[in-house]
Amino acid sequence: MEDWKTRTKLIHSGIRRSQYGEVAEAIFMTQGFVYESAEQAEARFLEAGPDEFIYARYGNPTVKMFEDRIAALEGAEDAFATASGMAAVNGALTSMLKAGDHVVAARALFGSCLYILEEVLTRFGVNVTFVDGTDLDQWKHAINKDTKAVFFESMSNPTLEVIDLPAVARLARRVGAKVIVDNVFATPVFSRALEQGADVVVYSATKHIDGQGRALGGVILGTKEFIRKTVEPYLKHTGGSMSPFTAWIMLKGLETLDLRVRAQAATAQAMAEALQWDARLERVIYPGLEQHPQHVLAGKLLEKPGTVLSLDIKGGQAAAFRFLNALKIMTISNNLGDAKSIVTHPATTTHQRLSDEQKDMLGITPGLVRVSIGIEDSDDLIADVKQALDAVEAR
Ligand SMILES: *Cc1c(COP(=O)(O)O)cnc(C)c1O
Repeated sequence: MEDWKTRTKLIHSGIRRSQYGEVAEAIFMTQGFVYESAEQAEARFLEAGPDEFIYARYGNPTVKMFEDRIAALEGAEDAFATASGMAAVNGALTSMLKAGDHVVAARALFGSCLYILEEVLTRFGVNVTFVDGTDLDQWKHAINKDTKAVFFESMSNPTLEVIDLPAVARLARRVGAKVIVDNVFATPVFSRALEQGADVVVYSATKHIDGQGRALGGVILGTKEFIRKTVEPYLKHTGGSMSPFTAWIMLKGLETLDLRVRAQAATAQAMAEALQWDARLERVIYPGLEQHPQHVLAGKLLEKPGTVLSLDIKGGQAAAFRFLNALKIMTISNNLGDAKSIVTHPATTTHQRLSDEQKDMLGITPGLVRVSIGIEDSDDLIADVKQALDAVEAR
């Protein structure tokens, strides 16, 4: 099984068949499990074997299949599935931190991640320092002997900054801090975050893993020790576990994950190249373009630079809105990694809460539009963007 390549793992890893020998993974839509005797119940509460379950908040066969399959893909010893991506981010951080601990985080974060670090952890006495994630000197100065964790998105939303994971991991290792990486934009297909120095990798499965806009989910990957001794007790007692039905959706999503994200990344690259010199754009942000500040680093760390690009449209918010409203195929929404191409105006939606100063610092300009590429025909998508840019000009 270790030798299987990605696409084989995504179909066959983690399968647990019932006595009926079903082909598709079974959905064990049960909250509990029956014991054959009082003695068996006692023994299982003492220590449950790999195919023994107690209560769905602790574990469930369908959820276990998903955990084993994503762990095989990631090359992780173990995984814990969660109710959403945020349950995973919160679980990974909160399960290991206590008052007095110090965390260093990149400042370009998904809004809810920022909330956990800025509002939740600090309320319980954890000290948090934010740095410009692309500046290694800032990491070096911020990490100290009290630092227990560093946290960052390997590729940030929506400006697609790529963080030098191996270099940050080396700095963290010197003080024994855990490296926790939110790897959504990099995707489990293109990134080898654990090999590159991450201790813990977190995904919102809502994005590419489902990939069809159906369900919320998340997962935390790491060593068996970290997942079973630190994460599991916290999550099974605080209620962030994944539902068996969601796990089944995510298992089916994993089967086609590699095919989908490769098609999406190819279109993202083609679109970025087709638009990079377009006079109606201030800039096209995609790490696959030479003009991207971390183009070389992205090439070293990621097999492909992801499925999302951002377009900064000349003419500010009014032009960006005209562009969004003129698109015929792409829909306005805020998911990403979906089979459907989706566009978002970060400044007025996902990042609305930030001050103008924070937006400036993160490069979230009024003209910026985030484009999550779907699996539609590449030529159709590029034509759709071009006709929408024409419509901006026509006004
Ligand atoms: C979407 C997202 C999350 C949160 O995931 P949910 O499944 O919506 O809870 C966290 N981090 C990143 C980078 C995301 O894109």
